[in-house]
Amino acid sequence: MFPPRCIACGDLVSTDFGLCAACWRDTPFATGLVCDKCGVPLPGEDEGRAEFCDDCLTLARPWKRGRAALVYNGAARRMVLAFKHGDRLDLLRPLAGWMNRAAAPILEPGMLVVPVPLHRLRLLKRRYNQSVLLAAALARAAALDHAPDLLLRTRATASQEGLHRDDRFANLAGAVRVNPRREAVLAGRAVLLVDDVMTSGATFAACADACLAAGAKNVSVLALARVAKDA
Ligand SMILES: [Zn+2]
Ligand SMILES: [Zn+2]
Repeated sequence: MFPPRCIACGDLVSTDFGLCAACWRDTPFATGLVCDKCGVPLPGEDEGRAEFCDDCLTLARPWKRGRAALVYNGAARRMVLAFKHGDRLDLLRPLAGWMNRAAAPILEPGMLVVPVPLHRLRLLKRRYNQSVLLAAALARAAALDHAPDLLLRTRATASQEGLHRDDRFANLAGAVRVNPRREAVLAGRAVLLVDDVMTSGATFAACADACLAAGAKNVSVLALARVAKDA
């Protein structure tokens, strides 16, 4: 038996799949009052009614509700990057557990869990689609159906990095479609889209548009981490 170690820094800890006290303090969980469309924390108290951040009040959000497990900052950012680009697949279980907890208020019975697709060229470079792994683990934890190949990238889009917000939306418009062989499973279903990091929301918007156009009842979104403006 190996002694349990902090999943962020590797220091010894007293519980399995946990964070040490220092990393826990440095991990911003998206808890408390959060935006009902994207999950970013908001100032104030949760009084049980839906509140929205400035982005979600001004940008087209074709989806119904949204949550994120983490704010993309501090130790959370390091863990997301290690999971995404490194070989830290051992992070999958704790990350999916945090996503399941964050998603609880927006889960609906019979929801179909759908990962955001990567274009196959990028998939070759990265070896695995981290959103598929997160969606599969989340679906298992929440006892929901998982449809890993429901959405397809129709073309390779330029990297979103460094693009301004309006260009991010233009870059992705029409870049996603529903797999024609999976249309039947989508009809009339509530969909939960899963991605690792939500920045502008352009990727979620393109995926939600495609699902709704193909007959989904409604779409909600779940990110592992939400980039906050002042983060
Ligand atoms: Zn630590
Ligand atoms: Zn928001």
